[in-house]
Amino acid sequence: MLDVYIRTQDAPGVVNACLLLAANSKASDLHIEPQSQGWQIRQRVDGLLHPVVFLPQVLGNAVLVRVKLLAQLDIGEQRKPQDGSFQTTINQNQLDIRCSTLPGHLGEKLVMRIQNRNIGSLQLSQLGMSQQQLSVLHQCLEAPQGMLLVTGPTGAGKSITLYAALQSLLQPQRNVMSVEDPVELVMAGMHQVAPAPHIGVTFAQVLRALLRQDPDVIMLGELRDAESADMAIKAAQTGHLLLSSMHTNTALEAITRCYGLGIDLQGLSYCLQLVVNQRLLRRLCEDCKKPLSSTQLKQLHTPQWRQVEADYGAEFGISAPSQAVGCSRCYGGYKGRIGVFELWSIDDHQRQQIAQGLQPDKSEHQHLGTQNIYHQGLARVLAGQTGIDELKRVLV
Ligand SMILES: [Zn+2]
Repeated sequence: MLDVYIRTQDAPGVVNACLLLAANSKASDLHIEPQSQGWQIRQRVDGLLHPVVFLPQVLGNAVLVRVKLLAQLDIGEQRKPQDGSFQTTINQNQLDIRCSTLPGHLGEKLVMRIQNRNIGSLQLSQLGMSQQQLSVLHQCLEAPQGMLLVTGPTGAGKSITLYAALQSLLQPQRNVMSVEDPVELVMAGMHQVAPAPHIGVTFAQVLRALLRQDPDVIMLGELRDAESADMAIKAAQTGHLLLSSMHTNTALEAITRCYGLGIDLQGLSYCLQLVVNQRLLRRLCEDCKKPLSSTQLKQLHTPQWRQVEADYGAEFGISAPSQAVGCSRCYGGYKGRIGVFELWSIDDHQRQQIAQGLQPDKSEHQHLGTQNIYHQGLARVLAGQTGIDELKRVLV
């Protein structure tokens, strides 16, 4: 279909065809990029960018203008960055599309972030946690107050974990509220607020107002500044369950980051219950994956491997470890993603260390054994669900 629109120089047709392709491939972003000879369109699927089509200069320009019009951006303005959004329905799915432009040497680059409103049911049990981890998480979510932090780099799936946790808490007897910048997923049954700094409504202001709205559960999209972190800690000490995320590579780093913010450490040590660290690994395509050769398997048989087999074999299964091949139904041998997790429940000893601003004992942390994130990734390799290359790409 895309070729027909390109041949007929139909810019709206090209935009629609690209959005349809993105929706079908479950892409998270579409990039429209100026190059010296024309325009490159790429889409991000399961965390990686893939080229979609290369457009001639004139058509590419028209496509850029078309998207800017849809997002209600000023098409005459090409020197300043702009942000906008629009909604569209594809295959009965409502898509929220946030657009941002950035002028550059060769012209404006435009990125569309695509959010599907109907992402199906969000179940904690489907994220990829082990049974042991799920029970630790449920225990934390059942508490009337306290703080749960989800950590990981960009694109590690932190938001989905938070939304799934909220979904499990949405009941008529609870008032569930969130401050998010921006609201990524609209959830029925909870009140979600986005700060509006352009009219002077900051994250901290929204949070202050929200605390007067009799909440039981509060989700803060991200803990970034000292003011909102301090308010969050106070809320989590006074009868509210607080869920948030932090952009750190490890669970321990979240504590160091809190120290850096200069927040009330006594309060933090009192309310912090659980830190989740996570990553997303691409799933091997079931249609084309190929078992590892006996030589490749031999290289994997380290003592660590045998430990993982003992810890997870029964739960995740031991089918043949496999490698990516690639077919018409996937992207380079991968399709979809699965989460791997490490859960750190703060114990009394570590609580004391946090109160004093000390680095919590790492030995205690690593003592969690089967909850080590790399081990869990290896278990998914063992189960033939992801490749060893993918694990090394994401977690080394
Ligand atoms: Zn395939």
